Amino acid sequence: MSDDVLTWQIGDVRITSVPESSDPTSPKFMFSSIDKTGVLELREQAPWLAPFVGEKGHLLQKIHCCVIDTGDDRIAVDTCVGNDKQRGNPLWHEQQGPFLDLLEKAGYPPDSITHVVCTHLHVDHVGWNTRLVDGQWVPTFPNAEYVFVAAEFEHWSSTEDLFGDPVFEDSVAPIREAGLANLVSADHSIGSAVSFESTPGHTPGHVSILIESGDQRAIITGDMAHSPIQIAQPDLSSSFDTDPEMARSTRVDAFARWADGNTLIIGTHFGTPTAGVMRPDGDSYRFDAS
Ligand SMILES: [Zn+2]
Repeated sequence: MSDDVLTWQIGDVRITSVPESSDPTSPKFMFSSIDKTGVLELREQAPWLAPFVGEKGHLLQKIHCCVIDTGDDRIAVDTCVGNDKQRGNPLWHEQQGPFLDLLEKAGYPPDSITHVVCTHLHVDHVGWNTRLVDGQWVPTFPNAEYVFVAAEFEHWSSTEDLFGDPVFEDSVAPIREAGLANLVSADHSIGSAVSFESTPGHTPGHVSILIESGDQRAIITGDMAHSPIQIAQPDLSSSFDTDPEMARSTRVDAFARWADGNTLIIGTHFGTPTAGVMRPDGDSYRFDAS
Protein backbone atom coordinates (compact mmCIF):
# COMPACT_ATOMS: atom_id res chain seq x y z
CA MET A 1 0.00 0.00 0.00
CA SER A 2 1.40 3.41 -0.94
CA ASP A 3 0.61 6.87 0.31
CA ASP A 4 0.76 10.23 -1.34
CA VAL A 5 3.80 12.18 -2.39
CA LEU A 6 4.40 15.01 0.13
CA THR A 7 6.44 18.19 -0.33
CA TRP A 8 7.93 20.78 2.01
CA GLN A 9 9.68 24.06 1.17
CA ILE A 10 12.66 25.10 3.31
CA GLY A 11 13.86 28.50 2.03
CA ASP A 12 15.01 27.84 -1.54
CA VAL A 13 15.08 24.06 -1.07
CA ARG A 14 12.21 21.75 -1.95
CA ILE A 15 11.95 18.40 -0.20
CA THR A 16 9.74 15.73 -1.79
CA SER A 17 8.80 12.54 0.01
CA VAL A 18 8.19 9.65 -2.38
CA PRO A 19 6.58 6.72 -0.55
CA GLU A 20 7.32 3.05 -1.09
CA SER A 21 4.96 1.50 1.46
CA SER A 22 2.98 2.29 4.58
CA ASP A 23 1.81 -0.28 7.09
CA PRO A 24 0.48 -0.50 10.63
CA THR A 25 3.27 -2.11 12.67
CA SER A 26 3.05 -4.02 15.94
CA PRO A 27 4.91 -2.00 18.59
CA LYS A 28 6.44 -5.26 19.90
CA PHE A 29 8.18 -5.69 16.52
CA MET A 30 9.95 -2.34 16.97
CA PHE A 31 10.28 -1.99 20.76
CA SER A 32 10.56 -4.87 23.21
CA SER A 33 9.44 -2.73 26.16
CA ILE A 34 6.05 -1.46 24.96
CA ASP A 35 2.98 -3.28 23.63
CA LYS A 36 -0.29 -2.12 22.02
CA THR A 37 -1.90 -1.47 25.43
CA GLY A 38 1.09 0.63 26.46
CA VAL A 39 0.95 2.58 23.19
CA LEU A 40 -2.79 3.30 23.66
CA GLU A 41 -2.11 4.51 27.23
CA LEU A 42 0.63 6.77 25.91
CA ARG A 43 -1.76 8.19 23.30
CA GLU A 44 -4.24 8.98 26.08
CA GLN A 45 -1.57 11.01 27.89
CA ALA A 46 -0.22 12.59 24.68
CA PRO A 47 -3.17 13.18 22.30
CA TRP A 48 -0.80 14.73 19.72
CA LEU A 49 0.28 11.14 18.99
CA ALA A 50 -3.13 10.39 17.39
CA PRO A 51 -1.99 10.60 13.71
CA PHE A 52 0.73 8.04 14.38
CA VAL A 53 -1.13 5.42 16.44
CA GLY A 54 -3.93 3.19 15.14
CA GLU A 55 -7.17 2.57 17.08
CA LYS A 56 -5.87 -0.84 18.22
CA GLY A 57 -2.43 0.38 19.29
CA HIS A 58 -0.50 -0.24 16.07
CA LEU A 59 2.20 2.22 15.06
CA LEU A 60 1.41 3.92 11.74
CA GLN A 61 4.69 3.72 9.86
CA LYS A 62 5.95 4.28 6.34
CA ILE A 63 8.99 3.71 4.18
CA HIS A 64 9.81 6.65 1.92
CA CYS A 65 12.64 8.41 0.14
CA CYS A 66 13.15 12.18 0.44
CA VAL A 67 14.53 14.05 -2.57
CA ILE A 68 16.22 17.28 -1.49
CA ASP A 69 16.20 19.66 -4.48
CA THR A 70 18.50 22.63 -3.87
CA GLY A 71 18.34 23.90 -7.45
CA ASP A 72 21.93 22.71 -7.97
CA ASP A 73 21.63 19.20 -6.55
CA ARG A 74 18.93 16.54 -6.35
CA ILE A 75 19.80 14.39 -3.37
CA ALA A 76 17.84 11.18 -2.74
CA VAL A 77 17.94 10.33 0.97
CA ASP A 78 17.29 6.68 1.88
CA THR A 79 16.27 4.39 -0.94
CA CYS A 80 13.71 2.12 0.78
CA VAL A 81 13.52 -1.68 0.23
CA GLY A 82 13.60 -1.89 -3.58
CA ASN A 83 12.12 -4.35 -6.03
CA ASP A 84 13.16 -7.95 -6.73
CA LYS A 85 15.35 -8.31 -3.61
CA GLN A 86 15.54 -11.71 -1.90
CA ARG A 87 14.43 -10.94 1.65
CA GLY A 88 13.39 -13.01 4.66
CA ASN A 89 10.55 -10.61 5.46
CA PRO A 90 7.63 -11.77 3.27
CA LEU A 91 6.36 -8.17 2.90
CA TRP A 92 9.67 -7.22 1.27
CA HIS A 93 10.59 -10.41 -0.59
CA GLU A 94 10.75 -9.89 -4.37
CA GLN A 95 8.67 -6.74 -3.93
CA GLN A 96 7.17 -5.30 -7.13
CA GLY A 97 6.18 -1.73 -6.29
CA PRO A 98 5.69 1.43 -8.38
CA PHE A 99 8.32 3.48 -6.52
CA LEU A 100 10.38 4.47 -9.59
CA ASP A 101 7.23 5.55 -11.47
CA LEU A 102 6.18 7.69 -8.49
CA LEU A 103 9.65 9.23 -8.32
CA GLU A 104 9.54 10.08 -12.01
CA LYS A 105 6.00 11.49 -11.75
CA ALA A 106 7.21 13.68 -8.86
CA GLY A 107 9.70 15.21 -11.32
CA TYR A 108 12.76 13.10 -10.57
CA PRO A 109 13.62 10.50 -13.19
CA PRO A 110 16.47 8.31 -11.89
CA ASP A 111 19.08 9.82 -14.23
CA SER A 112 18.35 13.30 -12.81
CA ILE A 113 19.46 12.38 -9.27
CA THR A 114 22.92 13.85 -8.50
CA HIS A 115 23.53 12.25 -5.08
CA VAL A 116 22.22 9.30 -3.10
CA VAL A 117 22.60 9.44 0.68
CA CYS A 118 21.85 6.55 3.03
CA THR A 119 21.39 7.58 6.67
CA HIS A 120 22.57 4.05 7.43
CA LEU A 121 22.88 0.74 5.60
CA HIS A 122 19.87 -1.24 6.86
CA VAL A 123 17.67 -3.14 4.42
CA ASP A 124 14.93 -0.48 4.17
CA HIS A 125 17.35 2.39 3.42
CA VAL A 126 19.48 1.02 0.58
CA GLY A 127 17.15 -1.06 -1.61
CA TRP A 128 16.74 1.24 -4.60
CA ASN A 129 20.47 1.90 -4.69
CA THR A 130 20.34 -0.91 -7.26
CA ARG A 131 17.85 -2.57 -9.55
CA LEU A 132 17.86 -5.89 -11.35
CA VAL A 133 18.76 -5.74 -15.06
CA ASP A 134 19.46 -8.97 -16.96
CA GLY A 135 20.18 -10.81 -13.71
CA GLN A 136 22.67 -8.19 -12.45
CA TRP A 137 22.31 -5.56 -9.71
CA VAL A 138 23.11 -2.24 -11.37
CA PRO A 139 22.99 1.32 -9.96
CA THR A 140 19.46 2.72 -10.24
CA PHE A 141 20.83 6.27 -10.32
CA PRO A 142 23.65 6.08 -12.90
CA ASN A 143 24.63 9.76 -12.70
CA ALA A 144 24.66 9.99 -8.90
CA GLU A 145 27.48 10.07 -6.41
CA TYR A 146 26.44 7.62 -3.69
CA VAL A 147 27.55 9.04 -0.36
CA PHE A 148 28.16 6.51 2.44
CA VAL A 149 29.62 7.26 5.87
CA ALA A 150 32.89 5.32 5.92
CA ALA A 151 32.37 3.89 9.44
CA GLU A 152 28.94 2.61 8.41
CA PHE A 153 30.23 1.10 5.16
CA GLU A 154 33.09 -0.63 6.95
CA HIS A 155 30.80 -2.02 9.69
CA TRP A 156 28.31 -3.61 7.29
CA SER A 157 30.98 -4.85 4.89
CA SER A 158 32.02 -7.28 7.63
CA THR A 159 28.82 -7.72 9.72
CA GLU A 160 25.85 -9.91 8.87
CA ASP A 161 22.59 -8.08 8.13
CA LEU A 162 19.95 -8.00 10.90
CA PHE A 163 17.81 -10.66 9.21
CA GLY A 164 20.62 -12.53 7.44
CA ASP A 165 19.69 -11.04 4.04
CA PRO A 166 22.36 -10.24 1.40
CA VAL A 167 21.74 -6.49 1.74
CA PHE A 168 25.31 -5.30 1.46
CA GLU A 169 25.99 -7.69 -1.41
CA ASP A 170 23.03 -6.67 -3.60
CA SER A 171 22.53 -3.00 -2.67
CA VAL A 172 25.89 -1.54 -1.55
CA ALA A 173 28.80 -3.56 -2.97
CA PRO A 174 27.64 -3.12 -6.62
CA ILE A 175 27.79 0.67 -6.14
CA ARG A 176 31.41 0.45 -4.99
CA GLU A 177 32.19 -1.88 -7.90
CA ALA A 178 30.62 0.62 -10.35
CA GLY A 179 32.93 3.35 -9.00
CA LEU A 180 30.01 5.49 -7.75
CA ALA A 181 30.64 5.28 -3.97
CA ASN A 182 32.14 8.17 -2.03
CA LEU A 183 33.06 7.19 1.55
CA VAL A 184 32.90 10.25 3.81
CA SER A 185 33.04 11.33 7.45
CA ALA A 186 29.88 11.70 9.58
CA ASP A 187 30.09 15.52 9.36
CA HIS A 188 30.04 15.63 5.56
CA SER A 189 28.15 18.34 3.68
CA ILE A 190 26.77 18.65 0.14
CA GLY A 191 26.61 22.23 -1.15
CA SER A 192 25.72 25.00 1.27
CA ALA A 193 22.27 23.73 2.29
CA VAL A 194 22.75 20.07 3.22
CA SER A 195 24.94 18.62 5.97
CA PHE A 196 25.16 15.44 7.99
CA GLU A 197 24.56 15.34 11.74
CA SER A 198 26.14 12.35 13.43
CA THR A 199 23.44 10.39 15.32
CA PRO A 200 25.06 7.02 16.16
CA GLY A 201 23.61 4.14 18.17
CA HIS A 202 20.94 2.72 15.87
CA THR A 203 23.98 1.79 13.77
CA PRO A 204 27.63 2.82 14.26
CA GLY A 205 27.84 5.39 11.45
CA HIS A 206 24.23 6.58 11.47
CA VAL A 207 23.59 10.19 10.40
CA SER A 208 20.58 12.49 10.26
CA ILE A 209 20.39 15.03 7.45
CA LEU A 210 20.18 18.78 8.16
CA ILE A 211 18.76 21.14 5.51
CA GLU A 212 19.24 24.88 6.02
CA SER A 213 18.14 27.67 3.66
CA GLY A 214 17.39 31.29 4.48
CA ASP A 215 16.28 31.23 8.10
CA GLN A 216 14.55 27.86 7.77
CA ARG A 217 15.75 24.46 8.91
CA ALA A 218 14.68 20.84 8.52
CA ILE A 219 16.02 17.51 9.74
CA ILE A 220 15.51 14.10 8.18
CA THR A 221 15.80 11.83 11.20
CA GLY A 222 16.85 8.51 9.71
CA ASP A 223 16.26 5.73 12.26
CA MET A 224 17.59 7.54 15.34
CA ALA A 225 13.81 7.60 16.03
CA HIS A 226 11.33 5.21 14.40
CA SER A 227 8.06 6.62 15.74
CA PRO A 228 6.84 9.81 17.45
CA ILE A 229 6.18 7.66 20.55
CA GLN A 230 9.96 8.03 21.10
CA ILE A 231 9.49 11.81 21.19
CA ALA A 232 7.09 11.30 24.10
CA GLN A 233 9.48 8.71 25.59
CA PRO A 234 13.06 9.35 24.42
CA ASP A 235 14.26 6.40 26.56
CA LEU A 236 12.52 3.94 24.24
CA SER A 237 15.19 2.25 22.11
CA SER A 238 14.33 0.08 19.13
CA SER A 239 14.94 -3.67 19.09
CA PHE A 240 17.06 -3.05 15.98
CA ASP A 241 19.54 -0.62 17.58
CA THR A 242 23.15 -1.84 17.38
CA ASP A 243 23.89 0.00 20.65
CA PRO A 244 20.62 0.83 22.48
CA GLU A 245 22.30 2.90 25.20
CA MET A 246 24.16 5.05 22.66
CA ALA A 247 20.93 5.39 20.65
CA ARG A 248 19.15 6.62 23.78
CA SER A 249 21.77 9.23 24.59
CA THR A 250 21.86 10.33 20.92
CA ARG A 251 18.08 10.93 21.06
CA VAL A 252 18.30 12.87 24.32
CA ASP A 253 21.03 15.15 22.88
CA ALA A 254 19.49 15.58 19.44
CA PHE A 255 15.94 16.24 20.69
CA ALA A 256 17.27 18.99 22.98
CA ARG A 257 18.81 20.67 19.89
CA TRP A 258 15.82 20.14 17.59
CA ALA A 259 12.89 20.98 19.92
CA ASP A 260 12.75 24.68 19.07
CA GLY A 261 9.19 24.77 17.68
CA ASN A 262 10.66 25.89 14.37
CA THR A 263 12.85 23.12 12.89
CA LEU A 264 10.79 20.86 10.61
CA ILE A 265 11.41 17.28 11.72
CA ILE A 266 10.81 14.78 8.90
CA GLY A 267 10.51 11.28 10.32
CA THR A 268 12.00 8.58 8.13
CA HIS A 269 9.40 6.06 9.33
CA PHE A 270 6.67 8.38 10.67
CA GLY A 271 3.35 7.73 8.88
CA THR A 272 1.64 10.59 7.03
CA PRO A 273 1.71 13.53 7.85
CA THR A 274 5.36 12.50 8.53
CA ALA A 275 6.70 15.97 9.44
CA GLY A 276 6.19 18.47 12.24
CA VAL A 277 7.91 20.52 14.89
CA MET A 278 9.06 19.48 18.36
CA ARG A 279 8.65 21.41 21.58
CA PRO A 280 9.54 20.69 25.20
CA ASP A 281 6.57 19.19 27.08
CA GLY A 282 6.99 18.51 30.81
CA ASP A 283 10.11 16.40 31.18
CA SER A 284 10.02 15.17 27.54
CA TYR A 285 8.76 16.56 24.22
CA ARG A 286 5.72 16.82 21.98
CA PHE A 287 5.52 16.66 18.17
CA ASP A 288 3.02 18.86 16.38
CA ALA A 289 2.41 17.45 12.92
CA SER A 290 2.26 19.97 10.12
ZN1 LIG B 1 14.53 1.84 8.81
